[in-house]
Amino acid sequence: MKYSIALLKGDGIGPEIVDSAVEVLKKVGAKYGHEFEFTPYLIGGCAIDATGEPLPEETVKGCLASDSVLLGAVGGPKWDNLPGGKRPEKALLGIRSALGLFTNLRPAKLYPALKNASPLRADIVAGGFELMIVRELTGGIYFGERGRREGKYGPEAFDTEAYSRMEIERIGRVAFETAMKRNRKLVSIDKANVLETSRLWREIMHEMSKEYSEVEYSDMLVDNAAMQLVRNPGQFDVIVTSNMFGDILSDEASQITGSIGMLASASLGSTKRGMYEPIHGSAPDIAGQNKANPIATVLSAAMMLRYSFDLKEEADCIEKAVDAVLEKGFRTADLLGTSGGNALSCTEMTEKILENI
Ligand code: NAD
Repeated sequence: MKYSIALLKGDGIGPEIVDSAVEVLKKVGAKYGHEFEFTPYLIGGCAIDATGEPLPEETVKGCLASDSVLLGAVGGPKWDNLPGGKRPEKALLGIRSALGLFTNLRPAKLYPALKNASPLRADIVAGGFELMIVRELTGGIYFGERGRREGKYGPEAFDTEAYSRMEIERIGRVAFETAMKRNRKLVSIDKANVLETSRLWREIMHEMSKEYSEVEYSDMLVDNAAMQLVRNPGQFDVIVTSNMFGDILSDEASQITGSIGMLASASLGSTKRGMYEPIHGSAPDIAGQNKANPIATVLSAAMMLRYSFDLKEEADCIEKAVDAVLEKGFRTADLLGTSGGNALSCTEMTEKILENI
């Protein structure tokens, strides 16, 4: 099969880590008989430098014409003082909205070989954990009406949260289907004891749970969920939640794995085209030094194969190669922490992954 992939390398370590993922995709393609065609487009700071815009029209058109999109990261100190609408990060909201990506999938897995990197106590992570957060990405309070006004106590600011039945049902569908493909356990996280949007959210999730009787479904309040994630993360399989709760909880979940350079993500819409990216930023402090950990981007490429192209075996092959490399003790500098040892460069780590494919 032939697949076209738009490459948005972006800024900082973006080009280094995307190049690694491209090498891995080429090797998997050669092994399984697929052809991946890569076309680079500008996004973020490098796009501002070249065109004056963080998200040029050509980039949007190119992504829309591709089967899928692989993104590195955007931003850096050079562009930090630009006004909000002109900043590199603005391009992320723009491209998500242009591609209609309403779901964010963030797996958080504790690799057995990296247990020591977790900030949680050894007895809590002894059994490991591998959870998936399904976050609603284009609705809720981040997109609601906001402003400043005169209030009861003088000038005030306000933000509003609104969720429609349609938006809740479509993210619910993704969550239940995701649970069906995993361990069939889904927890919906809300604040139904206070928020009306959460009460509608919970009502609809309950209705949908009747359609998915094989999925063990439960609700949890967000304050409890924040606590349960650090108390016993192994209890979770799939979590579904709103935009803001998902933003906060997915950062918490990634942190307890202990390794920002390891975590992948997928943003999906109603078509097969998705956008895949590591959860970390452009790491300007190590950019251009061949020190970045490419694994989060390599695993994002594996998610692309799994979710956009239905190439399960090929995705498994990449994930197993990463597991094998870690089990053999190979580490980039970020994974060594204070424990010392020899750090592999970004290209050396890529070579190790390629050897295991
Ligand atoms: P960051 O994730 O870029 O870096 C935080 C720390 O983690 C740094 O010390 C960095 O060296 C390290 N790190 C991150 N990824 C790594 C990797 N793959 N290998 C090894 N070490 C890694 O976060 P930040 O420093 O807060 O932000 C830097 C820039 O990235 C900012 O301009 C920010 O706006 C942007 N950003 C972009 C995205 C995105 O493109 N999706 C996400 C977050 C931040």
